[in-house]
Amino acid sequence: MRRDILLWPHPVLKQQAAPIARVDDAVRALIDDLFETMYGAEGVGLAANQVGVPQRVLVLDTTSRQPELRPLAMVNPVIVSAEGETVYAEGCLSLPGEVEDVERAAVVTVRYLDEQGHAQTLRCEGLLSIAVQHELDHLDGIVFVDHVSVLKRELIRRRMKRLQASRELRVGT
Ligand SMILES: [Zn+2]
Repeated sequence: MRRDILLWPHPVLKQQAAPIARVDDAVRALIDDLFETMYGAEGVGLAANQVGVPQRVLVLDTTSRQPELRPLAMVNPVIVSAEGETVYAEGCLSLPGEVEDVERAAVVTVRYLDEQGHAQTLRCEGLLSIAVQHELDHLDGIVFVDHVSVLKRELIRRRMKRLQASRELRVGT
């Protein structure tokens, strides 16, 4: 089921997401919804709190740029090591139309549970590295605009307020 993506600065996007105790069918159903919602919005990553579920689950698909990889679902992901630095112009499904340069680690190694509940360790490079750091930030209540200057963030806040207002008008609420 495709879910609605919350727009920043919705309070759930600023919340620390809770760890998953057990990867069960409910978690797998959430993962399915996250994939469907991400693909519907043409994103490369989505965190559960972006659809209003403050739990530590995220999905990623960077295969359009990294065909050697496959789509990934991560439960309780943790970055265990990071190397180098890179700057990438990031966007976010919770901030449509906004793009800002963000400095990240170039390569990260992530430990997580897959959709079967098995522990995995994955070294992430390129777009996958950027995307996993971006989505992990979401689980900690951080969005990419928290990495830019206060001035830029305030301009974005104003644009998002206008976008939110126009959406509410459109659905007639
Ligand atoms: Zn995002």
